[in-house]
Amino acid sequence: MRHRKTELPKFTEIVKFKIYKRLVKKSDEECWEWSGNQCNGYGRILIDGKSFPAHAVVLYLETGNWPDNTQVVCHKCDNKKCCNPNHLYIGTQKQNTIDRSKSGLTATKINGRHKCVVKPETIARGVDKGKCVKLNDDIVKQIRSEYVPFSVGYEVLAKKFNVAPSTIRSVVLRLKWSHVD
Ligand SMILES: [Zn+2]
Repeated sequence: MRHRKTELPKFTEIVKFKIYKRLVKKSDEECWEWSGNQCNGYGRILIDGKSFPAHAVVLYLETGNWPDNTQVVCHKCDNKKCCNPNHLYIGTQKQNTIDRSKSGLTATKINGRHKCVVKPETIARGVDKGKCVKLNDDIVKQIRSEYVPFSVGYEVLAKKFNVAPSTIRSVVLRLKWSHVD
């Protein structure tokens, strides 16, 4: 049986520019970390209103390989943010789970879905908008207590709590979660 290719996004020049602007390209050995949006530690990129895993997109742009709908792009290194094609491989869902348990990484699932799976059909239904910031009262309090202007800023806290800097800003300025002390 031939597997259907997962829908490939349109890589216009603008899209490519957006991608490489958020990518720190280094040597083959080093990790190329994604500096754009993240979800569960994995880079995400929005193309034509659909969210794709950044590492899968970069792997395609660098090598031309794109997973079919039974496959996932996995990391050889344990750096979820890494988009270095030399550190990535296309594997099956099962392999991905085995690798995660071997490396001691717990499988990160949201609503039972692996977030590094390219699944445009779920994205199209609006399940995954590339936003998965899961704050709660405790995290909000922690962010506010750790924020120190000009020292521990939005970027630092964004990395630590794995959310966008804009989220930290909203929390700190009480634009969001204003009901929490
Ligand atoms: Zn890496």
